Amino acid sequence: MKERFTVLKSDAEIRARIKELAADISKDYQHIQPDNPLLVLCTLRGAIFFSADLVRELTIPCEINFIKVQSYQGTRPAGSPIFELGERIDVRGREVLIVEDIVDTGQTMDTVMQNFSDKGAASIRIATMLDKPSRRYQHLVDHVKPDYIGFQIDDYFVVGWGLDYNEDFRLLPDIMIYDPDAE
Ligand code: 5GP
Repeated sequence: MKERFTVLKSDAEIRARIKELAADISKDYQHIQPDNPLLVLCTLRGAIFFSADLVRELTIPCEINFIKVQSYQGTRPAGSPIFELGERIDVRGREVLIVEDIVDTGQTMDTVMQNFSDKGAASIRIATMLDKPSRRYQHLVDHVKPDYIGFQIDDYFVVGWGLDYNEDFRLLPDIMIYDPDAE
């Protein structure tokens, strides 16, 4: 019998990994000064917990803001991603770190990076809690490469730790593989 939920990454593993990522990020952005702090853009809603834990571990000056891009319906991508929030955040001359829950086909991060690079960001990097490289659209393989990755995972649909299935399961404490068809 197939299980509906299977733990993929435990809460403890995720928290430990966030500390490591924060140390790497703080080191790479050591040059950041308080007059031009790192602009951390949390992608709503999936990355809320990841972003909150990550920024509180950073040892460099940073500012947090929020973006929202609609891309998934149920367990499948719904088409071209659309900005619902944050498209006009002023990024001119800013060093930007986009914080994402999961990079899958790469479409969402491609749209977001394109938007903020057109608007004159000084640099743009991506920190993602999860990466599913096997799902990347071929034309984005060389283009969408997250700079900081919590965990690379196989092609599963996952929920928990901010990730939802039609708004359910976001608050589950672990990252779980979710099979909606299991009994
Ligand atoms: P992409 O544009 O890279 O295909 O998809 C990125 C977005 O799709 C993520 O921000 C997330 O909202 C959603 N997504 C992709 N894979 C999963 C998954 O396994 N579980 C959940 N809950 N959302 C996913």
